[in-house]
Amino acid sequence: MRYFIKTFGCQMNYSDSERIASVLEKNNLKPVENISKADLAVFNTCGVRQMAEDRVYGQVHNLRKNNPNIKIILTGCLSNRKDVRRILENKVDLFVEIKNVGTAITKFVIANEVKQSRSKNNRLPRRSAPRNDIYNKDYFKIIPKHDNNFQAYVPIMTGCNNFCAYCVVPHARGREISRPAGEIIKEAKRLIKKGYKEITLLGQNVNSYKDGNINFPKLLKKINNLPGKFWLRFISSHPKDMSDELIETIAKSKKACEYVHLPIQAGDDKVLKIMNRKYDAKHYLKLIKKIELAFEKYKPGIIYSLTSDIIVGFPGETKNQFLKSAGIMEKVPYDMVYFGQYSPRPNTIAWKMKDNVSKKEKVRREKYLNEILKKTAFANNKEYVGKVFDVLIEKRKDGVYFGKTRTLKNVKLPSKKKNLVGKVVKVKIIKANIWNLAGTMIK
Ligand code: SF4
Repeated sequence: MRYFIKTFGCQMNYSDSERIASVLEKNNLKPVENISKADLAVFNTCGVRQMAEDRVYGQVHNLRKNNPNIKIILTGCLSNRKDVRRILENKVDLFVEIKNVGTAITKFVIANEVKQSRSKNNRLPRRSAPRNDIYNKDYFKIIPKHDNNFQAYVPIMTGCNNFCAYCVVPHARGREISRPAGEIIKEAKRLIKKGYKEITLLGQNVNSYKDGNINFPKLLKKINNLPGKFWLRFISSHPKDMSDELIETIAKSKKACEYVHLPIQAGDDKVLKIMNRKYDAKHYLKLIKKIELAFEKYKPGIIYSLTSDIIVGFPGETKNQFLKSAGIMEKVPYDMVYFGQYSPRPNTIAWKMKDNVSKKEKVRREKYLNEILKKTAFANNKEYVGKVFDVLIEKRKDGVYFGKTRTLKNVKLPSKKKNLVGKVVKVKIIKANIWNLAGTMIK
């Protein structure tokens, strides 16, 4: 059997898909690059926006129509929603929560292989390897099949306890569960030994991680202290859990990248309160100041980057309240902000609120903020010109390499050298654009 995984949404879902691929391959399924050639399609879904949800409906519908015999599994954020199950019940063969993928997908594959094989050959299929190794193991113990051999996601927790008014995550993924620190460190050691250059710790709210007396800064220190050359990233942090200890740890640590993603979501205190974010704009700006001072203290002169998330058009957000988000963006020199036009999500607190900012106005607000971002990102990028940075090369196309700095800036560089993908090289930046940098490799 051949499989294809379609992943929607965030890094957490991409990381989950790496574990799903591992489960499928342990069951002797082979990946295919085109969904039309697959016998089994897995939709790893995202419920954060209506648009992502609609794409799942459309794609599942078309796939079933064009290929009535394909097996379809649906997992991720939408898998547990009753309304989604109702809409797709005749098109999807198995709905499974992400935490159960190991056992449920294995059982499903075995059952379907038996059925297929009986109908084709009238005998049971032969298996090349016993599969009991996947049963009864919990989700985190599945060893993922990483997308490449130099960058890896390592989930350290799942779920969320925060119940931000707009967010489906606590409903879709349940409450926070932190993974045992020993298990995370073991996984990090295995990756470092294999030569991975970049490890990204993942969680909906990484900085509320807790395993006994090991909190997130302590976990970060432990991984930072592992021998080997690698970059360490983490995503995503909540401002209410951004402690002084964590700020100091990030700034001091050699391996943690000079990159902090701190989602503010809105600049107006009343909106933040209704969003249930549990901090105000003043507190957020104080944190930014502390981060800046910590980098200046522990890595003087270093270039660091700050990024955020902002929702435009949250129910009831007035023009003046929106301008407070713009005000934050004028104050904080962001390198990137991921904007979201508010869309109501079932089961959330905001679902019952009137979605009273028009689509047109949401588009206008996003554009407005994007113009501010272009200015700060471009000004920051100009600081790179003439300086040398380590760049992790991610791919090559038409004689040009593409990679990223520790600060997550996209860099392109032409080079005739072969086999640089997956390597960290020294690059002198010669040109700054708004969204990327251009450089030349130095010997
Ligand atoms: S912190 Fe808020 S936005 Fe982030 S996952 Fe939890 S509920 Fe969602």
